[in-house]
Amino acid sequence: MTKKGYPKKRAVEVAMQHIENLFVQASHIAGQDENLATRYVVAARKIAMKFKLRLPSRLKRRFCNHCYRYLIPGKSLRVRVHQHRLIYYCLHCKHFWRKPLRKSG
Ligand SMILES: [Zn+2]
Repeated sequence: MTKKGYPKKRAVEVAMQHIENLFVQASHIAGQDENLATRYVVAARKIAMKFKLRLPSRLKRRFCNHCYRYLIPGKSLRVRVHQHRLIYYCLHCKHFWRKPLRKSG
């Protein structure tokens, strides 16, 4: 039985690879051209949505969930620890989100 609309396993692997590559490129260019880095993030998200993939948390925390800007800690992203939680604060759109602080990270 074939499920219509569901991508093949191989296609998903390629898509995931593509997403990883986009984030690597984004991290390389972020210091010089933040807008371009953001475009890589948007492209990566589009691929993820197309293939119904969830971005791994290590990639997710690299951009703002609100304005999709690629975030550079200390430059466009402020990270604070407050009541055993990490507070991420996007300096572009003033959006912030919390993350519980655990030993395993
Ligand atoms: Zn933002």
